[in-house]
Amino acid sequence: MKEREIRMTYREYPDTHDLPEEDQMLISEAVAAASGAYAPYSRFMVGAAMLFDDGTVIRGANVENAAYPSGSCAEKTVLSYSVSNYPGKKPVAIAIAALAGGKLTREPVPPCGNCRQMLLEEEKRQGSEIKVILTGKEKTIVLRNSESLMPLHFTKSNLEP
Ligand SMILES: [Zn+2]
Repeated sequence: MKEREIRMTYREYPDTHDLPEEDQMLISEAVAAASGAYAPYSRFMVGAAMLFDDGTVIRGANVENAAYPSGSCAEKTVLSYSVSNYPGKKPVAIAIAALAGGKLTREPVPPCGNCRQMLLEEEKRQGSEIKVILTGKEKTIVLRNSESLMPLHFTKSNLEP
């Protein structure tokens, strides 16, 4: 028997202004994206903003549905848009923010398991890291890459015999 350990580290910023300007800009985009969410059932509005290596920024928001499982997370929305419309561009960072009761949540909101899996696949597919920025009123968390969100992940290599 071997006991193994997987470590992940992240940076925590109590003040968003201590982040690089580019990250602050992406956070603003994520908050703006959240305000455009369609979340009449949960009233939990999530926004995701993705930055590409050429400086392009795109936004996505959660889209709910009366048939609950038909809804989409903000991260999934922005990833699908990215893959569909910018196949030649490399995403380098994603910022995620959520509004509850119309206000930015106190704590940063991490992506759900499904979206972590999707972010990981995109990172593996393009062969370079996608920084993850999770913001809340009291702090912002920055992870170097998407893989950090998902230790012992499932990837295409697991499909091989
Ligand atoms: Zn999700």
